[in-house]
Amino acid sequence: MVTRCRNPPDHTAMDETARSSIYAQDAANQFRWPALSTELRARIAVIGGGLTGLSTALHLVEAGQDVVLLEAYQPGWGASGRNGGQLNPGLKYDPSQIIGKFGTEAGNRLVEFGWSTVQRTADLIGRLGIDCDLRLNGTLRAAARAADVAAVRASQQDMAAHGMPVEWVEADAMTRLTGHGRYHGGFLDKRGGDLDPLRLCHGLAGAAHAAGARIHGDSRAISLGRDQGRWRITTNTGAVIADRVLICCNGYADGLVPGLKRAMVPVFSSVLATPPLPDALAAQIMPGRQVLYESGLVTVYYRVDARNRPILGGRGPMRPVASPERLGHIADDARRLWPGLADVGWQTAWNGRVAITTDHLPHFHDLGDGLLAIYGYNGRGVALATAMGEPLASCLAGKIASAELPIPPTALSSIRFHAFWPIGVHATIAWSRLRKALT
Ligand SMILES: Cc1cc2nc3c(=O)[nH]c(=O)nc-3n(C[C@H](O)[C@H](O)[C@H](O)COP(=O)(O)OP(=O)(O)OC[C@H]3O[C@@H](n4cnc5c(N)ncnc54)[C@H](O)[C@@H]3O)c2cc1C
Repeated sequence: MVTRCRNPPDHTAMDETARSSIYAQDAANQFRWPALSTELRARIAVIGGGLTGLSTALHLVEAGQDVVLLEAYQPGWGASGRNGGQLNPGLKYDPSQIIGKFGTEAGNRLVEFGWSTVQRTADLIGRLGIDCDLRLNGTLRAAARAADVAAVRASQQDMAAHGMPVEWVEADAMTRLTGHGRYHGGFLDKRGGDLDPLRLCHGLAGAAHAAGARIHGDSRAISLGRDQGRWRITTNTGAVIADRVLICCNGYADGLVPGLKRAMVPVFSSVLATPPLPDALAAQIMPGRQVLYESGLVTVYYRVDARNRPILGGRGPMRPVASPERLGHIADDARRLWPGLADVGWQTAWNGRVAITTDHLPHFHDLGDGLLAIYGYNGRGVALATAMGEPLASCLAGKIASAELPIPPTALSSIRFHAFWPIGVHATIAWSRLRKALT
């Protein structure tokens, strides 16, 4: 098999979007990882320099493996360096649903892993000493409509029945925790938290490099094929020959592996951030500094970061965004919740691609001959992708079989009518906004 891919057509706009994130603005003049300029041999090649790829490369070199990581732009350029910064435990389903779907043994393994990802991420950050504003103040899941209370409550009860530290929060207590009265109730998962995701990416890249990983930025893999029993990956200026390859390009997957791009829907999520708030206003908004995401078809999520900047996310245009004017609906919503924000303005806006799968679960494929692929964290990848690095590294190093990963392997399959996904996403967003306006 030899495949070739072309650079994405919206390359310049996508890069502008990445640069307009609040994290990129904070991290001006960062070190640039050099492009691959020669032909290298490595035992393992990792393609994609987000949290999945960086954490996997780190754990591989720490286990004594010889690794090259190729990133089309720079480490953290994709979703990993520009997300909402929320560390949310768990998956889209409740623990009982996961056990029902995967069976007792695999289900319990996934539940144990999925709900420990924040602690695993925090432990890794602590071990490596990465300075990324990590805080563990908890995650709030909020019922945005009266009709959502039953489902949110059922999730809380299911998690509590599995021994998890998840407390129900009545509507009046939600008002105290958020600074506004929209919610009909919710739950607090005490294990959640937040951080600056780009600094986490940079910290992981630095640690992986220090331990021996060869990291190349500005190095898009443009072809992948078998050559004398090994994988040969080419970039515009070099090549890597490797025994095993991990593809972790998530919502930015291109045509490198046939069918991969069409196995997920790369939905854009948009984010707005204010400048640092005056102390009095900062104390009124999410005073306990938990992070929050709402119930609903199209998730609204927010937090106030370590510099007292509200960072609010939700759906927006399905194309790159780099200015606050494009996200007026998120701004209006925020001012409805906290009228004091009307006097503050917005520092910046950006968006990025979240990889959504049809079953809303991450997908892991063992494609044969040592070629693995993983994607589809469905908007929960900050902790999940970081935590996946360790088991993925064990699998690539041959210490565990792919069937033993917390996310069991499945066959790669394309989504039917994939070409029509933008229409479906626009319809879902329009429906969600209409529903919000009517309730
Ligand atoms: C705006 C936004 C907000 C979000 N908020 C949250 C949140 O608050 N909490 C949460 O848990 N999750 C959130 N997410 C999701 C989370 O960021 C992702 O699930 C996670 O970062 C995925 O990591 P990854 O390493 O798999 O992929 P990515 O970080 O997307 O990395 C993939 C990388 O692959 C590279 N690549 C693609 N093709 C090639 C190629 N051919 N050669 C070389 N490199 C290539 C890309 O350039 C990219 O850097 C958010 C996502 C977005 C976009």
